[in-house]
Amino acid sequence: MARQNYHLNKRLNQRLLSSRFDVGTDYRRWLAAGGGHGLDAALANPAAIIDTIEAAGLVGMGGAGFPTHRKWRAAAQAGAAAGPGKEAASPGTTPTIRYVVVNGNEDEPGTFKDRHLLLHTPHQVIEGALIAALAIHATHVVFYVNRRQRDALAAMREALAQWQTSQLFARLAAALGHPLELALNESSGRYIGGEETAVVSWLDGGFPFPRSKPPFPAQSGIGGAPTLINNVETIANVSHILRDGPDAHRALGIGEASGTKLYSLSGDVLRPGLYELPMGTPLADLVFGCGCGMLGGKAFKAVFTGGPSNTLLSAADLDVALDFDSVRARGSSLGTGAMIVLGEGTSIVREVARYVEFFAAESCGQCPPCKCGTFQMARLLHRIDTGVATQRDVDALASLATLLPRSGRCGLIDGAATVVQSSLRTFPGEYGL
Ligand code: SF4
Repeated sequence: MARQNYHLNKRLNQRLLSSRFDVGTDYRRWLAAGGGHGLDAALANPAAIIDTIEAAGLVGMGGAGFPTHRKWRAAAQAGAAAGPGKEAASPGTTPTIRYVVVNGNEDEPGTFKDRHLLLHTPHQVIEGALIAALAIHATHVVFYVNRRQRDALAAMREALAQWQTSQLFARLAAALGHPLELALNESSGRYIGGEETAVVSWLDGGFPFPRSKPPFPAQSGIGGAPTLINNVETIANVSHILRDGPDAHRALGIGEASGTKLYSLSGDVLRPGLYELPMGTPLADLVFGCGCGMLGGKAFKAVFTGGPSNTLLSAADLDVALDFDSVRARGSSLGTGAMIVLGEGTSIVREVARYVEFFAAESCGQCPPCKCGTFQMARLLHRIDTGVATQRDVDALASLATLLPRSGRCGLIDGAATVVQSSLRTFPGEYGL
């Protein structure tokens, strides 16, 4: 146990993104804490930014774990001659419109990391976004923040005003060769509003309806312009990578995993909260180390990993390394890093019903299989939970969960079906099977 605690304490000391939560909105304090050096390094060699991000192994922290450099390269190369390593726009020429959007919609149940980054270290997020703007030669940067996060919005507003009058920002505009517009946008506050194409719809002035892909926003986004959309946590890593170098970032992770990850730990643990750990830390360390174990001395039963739209992991998975590849190998996803822990005695059916009801309420209604299917699954789960279901109801639920995936324009329907399928597979006894 002492050895385990030693390793955990060591890991908790390797915080990166949450290590300066005391800085707040004061730009001078951010610089004094080592801020600004990432953008400085990027300005010294703009052509190398994307290669550096690639070498660091940075992946998207909003759920998909998609390699960040691939999105950046696609946005940089889409639609125009200018790009990383190319000449800045000549004075008098019109720059190609290109957007960076920092996605802080964060409306997944159990996820509360981005609001802390925006509130406590807004400069960390802004500096990363400015580096991304330089890398893809953007003309606009939009910070898209959930409208319910009033404190985070206020912090961002205050921090942005300081950047706009800073020397570093003036140097950035000079390097780009054109003005860079910064904007703060209040997102719709709907769950689907965080889906990339819904972000574009909203910023284009419409309802946040997801649309089919391709084209991807990096190819055709806001107003048809190339649009790079990255999650807040992804962007928060960027200034550190440019400042410390890709090797230092890789060294933070365990084994092949790179960097750190923020976890929103909730549910039946003694100490829920936000934790940052090296990528690749075992699930058991998060639950029993950071979370101090199970509430009321209950046994661990299951965890919704990455929010409630992924495959449930059970006690047999407590040894899994929390990195995108290892969790994927167990048939689930690290997702946003939300970890909703369930103790013995918790009804899996009731928990799944709760989340499927959420998905049914959040469905935008464009795709009939999603609107009707999520509603129908929620209704069947409610019947099972309240003890009035027959075997036909359970069979109908299983059949819907198999039929629905990939029948909608976005991942909402897949997430709802996945969690039902996985609960049926891992906890058949709870359904009377
Ligand atoms: Fe809307 Fe559902 Fe279709 Fe997604 S799958 S676009 S949430 S109806």
